[in-house]
Amino acid sequence: MPTRAAPAQAAKAPAPGPASAARPPSAPQRALHKLGLVRDIDLALHLPMRYEDETRLVTIASLRDGVAGQVQGTVVDSRIEQRARRQLLVRVDDGSGELLLRLLHFHPGTQKTLAPGTLVRVKGELRAGFFGREMVHPEFRAVQPDTPLPAGLTPVYPSSAQLPQAYLRKCVASALARAPLHELLPEGTVLAGLPSLREAVQFLHQPPPGTDLDALEQRHHPAWQRLKFDELLAQQLAQAQARAERARLRAPVLAARPGGLAERLLAALPFALTGAQQRVVAEIAADLARLQPMHRLLQGDVGSGKTVVAALAAAAAIDAGWQCALMAPTEILAEQHFRKLVQWLEPLGVGIAWLTGSRKGRGRREQLAAVADGRAGLVVGTHAVIQHDVAFARLGLAVVDEQHRFGVAQRLALREKLAEAEAPPEPGGPKLEPHLLMMSATPIPRTLAMSHYADLDLSTLDELPPGRTPIVTKVFEDGRRAQVLARIRDAVAAGQQVYWVCPLVEESEHLDLQNATATHAELSALMQQAVPGAMVGLLHGRMPPAEKAAVMSLFSGGTMQLLVATTVIEVGVDVPNASLMVIEHAERFGLAQLHQLRGRVGRGAAASVCVLLYTAPLSPTGKARLKAMAETTDGFEIARRDLEIRGPGEFMGARQSGDALLRFADLAQDEPLLRQARDAAARLLAAHPAAAQQQVDRWLGAKTEFLKA
Ligand code: ADP
Ligand code: MG
Repeated sequence: MPTRAAPAQAAKAPAPGPASAARPPSAPQRALHKLGLVRDIDLALHLPMRYEDETRLVTIASLRDGVAGQVQGTVVDSRIEQRARRQLLVRVDDGSGELLLRLLHFHPGTQKTLAPGTLVRVKGELRAGFFGREMVHPEFRAVQPDTPLPAGLTPVYPSSAQLPQAYLRKCVASALARAPLHELLPEGTVLAGLPSLREAVQFLHQPPPGTDLDALEQRHHPAWQRLKFDELLAQQLAQAQARAERARLRAPVLAARPGGLAERLLAALPFALTGAQQRVVAEIAADLARLQPMHRLLQGDVGSGKTVVAALAAAAAIDAGWQCALMAPTEILAEQHFRKLVQWLEPLGVGIAWLTGSRKGRGRREQLAAVADGRAGLVVGTHAVIQHDVAFARLGLAVVDEQHRFGVAQRLALREKLAEAEAPPEPGGPKLEPHLLMMSATPIPRTLAMSHYADLDLSTLDELPPGRTPIVTKVFEDGRRAQVLARIRDAVAAGQQVYWVCPLVEESEHLDLQNATATHAELSALMQQAVPGAMVGLLHGRMPPAEKAAVMSLFSGGTMQLLVATTVIEVGVDVPNASLMVIEHAERFGLAQLHQLRGRVGRGAAASVCVLLYTAPLSPTGKARLKAMAETTDGFEIARRDLEIRGPGEFMGARQSGDALLRFADLAQDEPLLRQARDAAARLLAAHPAAAQQQVDRWLGAKTEFLKA
């Protein structure tokens, strides 16, 4: 795998900040590095998230309740008191009136700093409390009568607890003076009317007095536009470079033969492909028949039939004498794929191996041997497929299902695995890399596809198999739980199959489990009385895989009517007969997650219903999510709204990392800029490749590695 050399600046950049480089880094210096603030240019491009106006003092008497202000006065009293808790109470007088500072967290030295007689400058929000006019935890510092007020707005930077604003401000200011901010882009690249990069950066760090704070914080200001454009341009360039690099790599040619395995599979399927499936299968087949490795993302809403597309691609690879690996994020899903693929491909003579974390010992060794000597044409499993002891004979195609569920580390491991799985090159010929097909049921909004996924080719299944009746979604407050229970009882009595999804407990798998167990007991008791003989199952992440598999097979076989589950059923689970789903505490789930969960029903011909139970009061975003769910079942519309409600996090999947690649541009807002950047990137790469490289280095530095994941 080719790697780009680290940008030249990274190596020689001294640790910023006042401390000498010879000493071990101080806590704030370490915190700077953690935020990726290493080079002068990194600090210069670390822009304020907002500003504070410290240019004016007001009198204590003129402070209004709930309004922030800055005052200056003399400490007249300072004492520690034990009220509800220990606190430092400081009274300040400026001649116009008195103000109480209340500090609940304070250092032993704080009381000394605020000794009576000290002149202090205090900034905070006034609260007219029970004990009089006060500020709780204001910013303050001791000053001299002639200490000047800042002339411009004071920037507030994104920071961390270990990194005080004052220190960060100093580092940024000194880096700003040194940072190489000269114009890299040839004339005509940047929209007319936007400032130079240096002007824009200078302006945003140190806005002159009188600047309109609102325009600045809304980020419509031309200085912001310039920065967003440059950032988007760097991103577009990096993706175009990744694509160009890939075009130089070589992969095995996996052309389908007339009458070959793919055609035989197609003939044996119990259904005909939808138009969308046919189109996507053709797109993939064309890629596989090329010398360059495919890097394609197949997105299709839940239930759109991605698995069979993957199976047809696998058939083409196997037919050409190569192996295919299919990786799924959970054991339940991997097993389900395994069963389906065995059913489809084994009758056609394909050997299929099965690798998961829980499969150990002799069984595992046998599977590994079949993978290594090529008897297994298809290898299905969880991330166990990319463990170090798995060696493929001739890996030609890797398929990653629900790719957004894999983390960065797993994605990189996969790429490495693929690299080491190269077939022995022809003497003197280029090395071969496998083709890569990623699949996702979380549709990617257009702007995101244009930005973060610009280096991938995209295929879309925008049509559901025929005969599906749309899911009806109902949103009920928790108070109507009894009514919902009655409905479940009737459905089970009528022979329907039902999912009951338990509330998500943030950060606690243990509580999730407790919840699920209690709900299972409650529903079992209810069914016992109402529908004797009905079987109620429980499925959660902590169960041993064999037990999970047993429960799943009872449910998919129709023996079990009601399945109480945690979000382990979220991805991919396919039981077409299930037609009713209840999601408890739906307000706790993300929108994409709710859509995924709901996608477990509506997979067969029966009319399906999804009931979302929530507990009031709803937060505004919680409300927006439930409203979106009630209004649409279209995954693309859901994704668009999710992007609006929450920003791009959820879609990033593997690319989601501490340092998101876009810090300033907002994909929900900046589509026009994104389009301009995309066009500019193409022109720049063609005419000025050196400037393009410098632009990438300036903005992304070491981050370009993430693009390879
Ligand atoms: P997803 O895209 O969510 O992974 P699946 O591949 O699990 O969807 O397919 C959902 C269901 O639809 C499966 O039961 C599958 O066998 C079935 N299916 C797929 N394609 C078709 C089709 N063209 N006609 C009818 N049923 C189909
Ligand atoms: Mg699937």
